[in-house]
Amino acid sequence: MIFFKKKEKKDSGDDIPIDLKADSGAPAENQQREIAARQGEAIPPLKELLYDALVKGAEKTMLDYSRDAVTGTYLIDGVWHNTDPRDRETGDAMLVAIKLLCGMNPDERRARQEGKFMVEHKVTKAKFLGKVTSQGVKTGERVIIEVRPKKFKGFKSLDDLGMREQMQERLREHMRAEQGIVLIAGPPGGGFTTTWNVALNSTDRLLRDFVGLEDKHHHETDVENINMTLFDGAAGETPDQIIQKIMLTQPDVLTLADLCNAATVNKLCQLANAPKEGKLIIAGVRAKDAVEALLRVLLLKASAPDFAEAVRAVLCVRLIRKLNDTCKQPYPPPPQLLQKLGIPPGRVQALYREWQPPPPDPEEEKKKKKKALPPGACPLCELEGPLCHGIFYRGRTGIFELLEVNDELREALVKKPQLEVLRNIVRASGHRGLQEEGILLVARGLTSLNELQRVMK
Ligand SMILES: [Zn+2]
Repeated sequence: MIFFKKKEKKDSGDDIPIDLKADSGAPAENQQREIAARQGEAIPPLKELLYDALVKGAEKTMLDYSRDAVTGTYLIDGVWHNTDPRDRETGDAMLVAIKLLCGMNPDERRARQEGKFMVEHKVTKAKFLGKVTSQGVKTGERVIIEVRPKKFKGFKSLDDLGMREQMQERLREHMRAEQGIVLIAGPPGGGFTTTWNVALNSTDRLLRDFVGLEDKHHHETDVENINMTLFDGAAGETPDQIIQKIMLTQPDVLTLADLCNAATVNKLCQLANAPKEGKLIIAGVRAKDAVEALLRVLLLKASAPDFAEAVRAVLCVRLIRKLNDTCKQPYPPPPQLLQKLGIPPGRVQALYREWQPPPPDPEEEKKKKKKALPPGACPLCELEGPLCHGIFYRGRTGIFELLEVNDELREALVKKPQLEVLRNIVRASGHRGLQEEGILLVARGLTSLNELQRVMK
């Protein structure tokens, strides 16, 4: 009897401090969805999964349904990590429950479906917005669950993103200019959207009139006080067709998250270069570094002389994970390594890396077997938080490259727009690229060489 009572309690999932709620229907509908979702008794394992994801700070949880199993992966600070697989029976029941909670059709396992739900912490009462996307794939079905705080505390300022004050000041100077083009560059998924928004947030858009252009299918800009005009890229509309119209309002600054064709670049250059009443243009480019961003614009077959005249600066960014302070491990850097990194001898006493277990000692091994750590745990963080959950990294910061375009570079953009030529000019001017900026972060002990290698790949 006692056994059954215990089991009953555990199966209700009461020991997990979150509640899952329907959120996308009318109140009566939501209530029905919650009742329906509870029928299959899969709410406890679902809560367990989502709570684990929340604790570990996962931005996304991906479930892949194949014939025999359900594999799970978490996206944490931009990197996918495996979690325990589920058997099909449990996994299927969980999927039915979450689909019912979201008002999705549990029988539909091929066509793409989207739904919303809510997570509430029982103790803190904090609310989290949940989003589910399901879609049939070759091997079965793929489900992505995103859970984020209702009051989202993302990067808001250049400080939050880790840009040093001196670089912020130089960037602000370009953003305050009356005319010219400032480019913001990053690889897709590597921090472009974050930096785009943080950079726009740091402009003087309360003092000047900002207008923005954006493809309605590629939402990037989430900044107040920018008057957005949307165009339909999928229907063949391009920004150049509407620039004229939006300039009738006489704005001071125009933003466009993606320079997509030569006609657009040429129009923007004309606006930026106009002798009187020139405009400031802030535009996005998908590129790995600042020099590549300049070349990408030219590769659209835009007018090189006009572009070279207009462009003032390129800000390039890469997000990099920070080592967890609790468990990061110092090591004396070999002199050859410091030399290779260009760090003067004596400047840095220790570099840091992910915690690595000491070489196994047979006696210790015996003891350890008795109190084995759960998989994915970190022995140092277990003793003293904050926890890294065996990932050894926590949170991210930005690596920035700010390339200010000088006359020599302008001339080369017109006469010899080749990667190596441009790189040599930039290097000779003493400019620090992403790699060098990243090494500074390693030297400061914020991140590891492994991580720098990963993000620069
Ligand atoms: Zn740790």
